[in-house]
Amino acid sequence: MRVTDLRIAGPTPIPPAVMQAMQRPMIYHRGNTFRVFFKRLLQRLVQIHQTEGSVLVLPGTGSAGWEIALVNTLSPGDRVLAVVNGDFGARWARVAERFGLEVVRVEVPWGYAATVEHVRPALEAHPDVKAVLYTYNETSTGVANPLAEMGDLVRRHGALLLVDGVSAVAGMPLEMDAWGVDLVFSGSQKAWMCPPGLVIVGVGPRAWGATKAARFPRAFWDLREYREQAETGDMPSTAPLTLLYALEAACDLIEAEGLERVFARHRALAELVRSGATELGFRLFADPSFASPTVTALLPPEGLDADTVVQGLRTRHGIEVNAGQGRLRGKILRIGHMGWVHEPELRRVLAALGDITALRGGA
Ligand code: PLP
Repeated sequence: MRVTDLRIAGPTPIPPAVMQAMQRPMIYHRGNTFRVFFKRLLQRLVQIHQTEGSVLVLPGTGSAGWEIALVNTLSPGDRVLAVVNGDFGARWARVAERFGLEVVRVEVPWGYAATVEHVRPALEAHPDVKAVLYTYNETSTGVANPLAEMGDLVRRHGALLLVDGVSAVAGMPLEMDAWGVDLVFSGSQKAWMCPPGLVIVGVGPRAWGATKAARFPRAFWDLREYREQAETGDMPSTAPLTLLYALEAACDLIEAEGLERVFARHRALAELVRSGATELGFRLFADPSFASPTVTALLPPEGLDADTVVQGLRTRHGIEVNAGQGRLRGKILRIGHMGWVHEPELRRVLAALGDITALRGGA
């Protein structure tokens, strides 16, 4: 069966208005039309990030965000605290090591949230920590980490709070300034409802301050260059016009719905998936108190194999969901519900899950 329903945790389905925006012709990327357009787009992103700081857009994906955050604010040999409660946190920690940072891992069992109670002792034990690397939404486990409570603690220890918001921003609340987030990056292919290819980076004043002392070499990922160029509505390299048109159309949709309503829709849909799946005998992988609004990780009912469920959804129903990744390979399945998604599509996924569990019952 042809896959018709993309229910993975990104790339996510593209709304018709965003598709249409991408039909626009190319224009001169250093002309006035582009400059006016781009400046306006960046202002709208600032509002969505709830910051007085800056938001920049770079060609790239979420993984670029890991590198961007590190090379712009730190220097070789600096000590950082990497909070790891899933595969993405683990990957960011490895990237930091490759850059020659002194990485202290705060390991939290996968499926559980990484809270201030986990981070505080590590900060106390390592007062020279320069930055805390924190994943807002751990896509591999379906855990939403409590970002709102983290900034205060990290700031009191004089460290920067660098946040992977790849599968969170635009689908989950974010108050950069109020929460003390110094830098946060996200990927266009997730809750932003756009194709992959843009990394959106919010940068606060403390992170800008850190860029002055940071000694990592940086060229393409130099945020200061992006900021300087953005003042005139420019980008350092050729602007990815089609993706920027898409992002503008996505902002239109987000603003028309209203940020709070967007977040409430994500919460309600996540609840629908959790309750529907648990009724069918699936178990939540994530601690329910911290279950993510954008992706749900499920353990299959007794006697059913996770990968068989993933395959059954694909072949019998044309629905694509994620299998487990990293050490969760073969153990869980994950349903993405971020961006352009509404109740009917998720009811269809639940009905298909019901069909697959019933098949097992009849076997
Ligand atoms: N961080 C998180 C939390 C993610 O979910 C992902 C991708 O799913 C990434 C980083 C890596 O992003 P990309 O695959 O766009 O490079």
